[in-house]
Amino acid sequence: MLKFFEKFSEVFAIMSEKTDGSMKLLDGEKWEENLKNRNKFFNKNEINPNKVTSVRLVHGSKVLAVKNGAEKIVEDADGLVTSESNIFLAVTVSDCIPVYFYEKEKKIVGIAHAGWRGIVGGIVENAIGEILKLGGKVENMYIALGPGINSCHFEIKKDVLNEFRRYDAHVLRREEKIFVDLKGIIREQLLSRGIKEGSIEDNKACTYCSENFFSFRRDKTNETMVAAIGLKN
Ligand SMILES: [Zn+2]
Repeated sequence: MLKFFEKFSEVFAIMSEKTDGSMKLLDGEKWEENLKNRNKFFNKNEINPNKVTSVRLVHGSKVLAVKNGAEKIVEDADGLVTSESNIFLAVTVSDCIPVYFYEKEKKIVGIAHAGWRGIVGGIVENAIGEILKLGGKVENMYIALGPGINSCHFEIKKDVLNEFRRYDAHVLRREEKIFVDLKGIIREQLLSRGIKEGSIEDNKACTYCSENFFSFRRDKTNETMVAAIGLKN
């Protein structure tokens, strides 16, 4: 299990690893087993599974603000924010990058599932925008980047190259192959929105390189980790 934002005792931000089992939501016949894995993981971390709100990922860039009592599975979004202290927000990831947000003064938390489409589509900016709408300020924001697929393994084909045209500095060519540094793009977006470099923490592990994680590209499976954040009561 990985923890983020450890210097803030009022926030709990975690991510499961492969040994915790697959956490994928509504995964057909595997759902029952995955639900057990999720409940076990949340209970182990003293999170009430009934207080967890998850997104049903669509690999887009929409981020929604949620309140307690809202639906447990939010459709059609890839990120959530809240200013309430009695709910946890969760996304699942496997190569995509979990991005955790914390606004220290207003006590707003957020999480985004940042796949390449979401990243170029502006999911990071959208999450910041939702936090601002709740009264947060950029100068009080802290960001944690969980493990994801790094530029050693995130290869793209020419057909999608144009999607990265605004981020040329993060497109790398090696041996006639094209790779993209997704975290480099996220960092550029964060810094250009005014987030300070010193407010960003980064677990640099590559999910493809490390056997501690499921990797969609490496394993070609549906198995995923869960990333969650909430305020402690
Ligand atoms: Zn790698």
